[in-house]
Amino acid sequence: MRLLFSTEEIREKVEDLASQIRGDYQGKKPLLVGLLKGSFVFLADLMRALDQPLEVDFVRLSSYGHGTESSGRVRVLHGLKTPVRGRDVLVVEDIVDTGHTLSYFLESLARRRPASLRVCTLLDKPCRRCVPVTIHYRGFTVEDVFVVGYGIDWAEEFRYLPAIYALEKAECASKTSSP
Ligand code: 5GP
Ligand code: MG
Repeated sequence: MRLLFSTEEIREKVEDLASQIRGDYQGKKPLLVGLLKGSFVFLADLMRALDQPLEVDFVRLSSYGHGTESSGRVRVLHGLKTPVRGRDVLVVEDIVDTGHTLSYFLESLARRRPASLRVCTLLDKPCRRCVPVTIHYRGFTVEDVFVVGYGIDWAEEFRYLPAIYALEKAECASKTSSP
């Protein structure tokens, strides 16, 4: 496992994103919508760094299963319960990879007529994009590596790690082949 971003680098980046967002949402009460499960640690830190009135809700979508490749098919496992009509919605994502998940979700949100709809992602892998997605607040850009830690898992493992790491291909393979 290779360290990509330390806890200190993540903390600084979250502060930086929060100050951009705070500036853009002055006098507003945005609805932060986190995509479970990967974004919950990031959203929790971002929300506290924002330190302004806001609401939070979560959705759970799935396109991954237990592999490391997006299937391109998105399923809604837990939909959004908060009404979004007329709200300033900020979608909070851990990683934008192929873009399938986010573009599917943004289309379904847009149909519900929010006042505004923006995206904040901690990590972006532009080299992997299949579907274009507009990202308004971007933390780190990463190359084509599989990342874990800071809430982000591989087959439910490694979420607890406080920093962000790249999982080597051999580590994925050895995990898969272990009993
Ligand atoms: P997309 O639909 O953009 O291909 O993938 C979106 C989701 O796939 C991300 O929100 C994340 O949950 C998962 N994903 C994409 N890349 C990675 C990665 O490098 N590591 C992990 N653990 N999940 C990833
Ligand atoms: Mg995600």
